[in-house]
Amino acid sequence: MTEAVHTAPAPPDHSAFMPTYRPLPMVPVSGAGCWLADADGRRYLDLAGGIAVAALGHAHPRLVAALHDQAARLWHVSNVFSNRPAEALARRLCELTFAERVFFSNSGAEANEAAFKLARRVGHRRGGPDKHRIVALRESFHGRTLFTVSVGGKPAYTETFEPLPPGIVHVDPGDHEQLEAAVDDRTCAVVLEPVLGEGGVLPLPPGYVRHARELCDRHDALLVFDEVQTGMGRTGHLFAHQALGVAPDICTAAKAFGGGFPIGATLATAEVGDQLTRGTHGSTFGGNPLAARVALEVLDAVSDPALLANVTARSEQFVDGLRTIGRSTGIFTDVRGRGLLLGAVLAPEFAGRAREAQLAALDAGVCVLVAGTDVIRLTPPLIITADETAHGLERLEVAFTRLVRRWREAAAGGGGPEGTV
Ligand SMILES: *Cc1c(COP(=O)(O)O)cnc(C)c1O
Repeated sequence: MTEAVHTAPAPPDHSAFMPTYRPLPMVPVSGAGCWLADADGRRYLDLAGGIAVAALGHAHPRLVAALHDQAARLWHVSNVFSNRPAEALARRLCELTFAERVFFSNSGAEANEAAFKLARRVGHRRGGPDKHRIVALRESFHGRTLFTVSVGGKPAYTETFEPLPPGIVHVDPGDHEQLEAAVDDRTCAVVLEPVLGEGGVLPLPPGYVRHARELCDRHDALLVFDEVQTGMGRTGHLFAHQALGVAPDICTAAKAFGGGFPIGATLATAEVGDQLTRGTHGSTFGGNPLAARVALEVLDAVSDPALLANVTARSEQFVDGLRTIGRSTGIFTDVRGRGLLLGAVLAPEFAGRAREAQLAALDAGVCVLVAGTDVIRLTPPLIITADETAHGLERLEVAFTRLVRRWREAAAGGGGPEGTV
């Protein structure tokens, strides 16, 4: 076999896919810890972590061992049977959180779908069919099923999918008056992400979350936290709300919960959770032994105080480093977020160019995410070391220094915004 030495690996081939995605030009074929590799063996530092999923990085020995061991025993029996890994996982979640009851599913959207259906059902039972309104935030993201995308606050994601489920009210995040005006006795639930992830990495002020709790108590409504992105240690706490001192009635988890193996969970108090009675909801795969066994390992690892302390320390290192890059290159004006869910906001003169910055970072050997078109988002593995963090920051500085120079030259010379890769 003879191959040209400098042939790049084949680009992504999505010709047989529905065109929902636009994959990056590098196709990873393996991963270990915080690193990904393409077919040529070129290594990339992964600060995207599969969108806040690979909390323990790639191919973590503990997860690989748990998966192999369980794979050789029992994969799936459906909920016609109970299974020991799911039982242990539910018990452990209840020990570690406000929760007293758990429903397992396979994704964030499904965890939220169950949460919203449960909230509607509790509303019906407390106040009759009129008590069905859900108050949610503009720019929030809760998944892509019809109900969850309707509760989400991005009109672009629901266009052409109408008619949508009715009874959903949106308010601007952080606006106390709008919230106060929206919540009334017809409200069954207020739904919040403690940090809006897809919506631009926007932490909600603690006072706003407390206000939501008070309004829910006043109007006999449920407070629902979508912690699909913020949960499982991401913010330096097992769940972000544990640092806010506000307990929800329902909280959802997914993304990092399985460390890359699909699993979602809807957590609730006993009073609320017990109302999802036999036959009212279900899932074929939810809580299967393979997923539950892996998630049990993840949960154990991400509730370890040493790991959570690493999240906080690396967060400070990233924030300092990104602010320095922002000052030296002028590319960012603001760095925000909690723990290892961080957003660097592009300066107004570079608004809309987050994708170009993402491609430039990839070219320099670092995988990052975007949130919208104006924010570079980082959701690295929670196990990232100080050295890896320093390396990532150094590569980003090189990439963004070059990129800003090119952007400025193009602006001065009348060139277009193209030419990143
Ligand atoms: C990713 C995400 C979801 C959807 O999760 P899927 O597993 O893609 O269905 C829901 N809510 C939040 C906050 C998310 O970040």
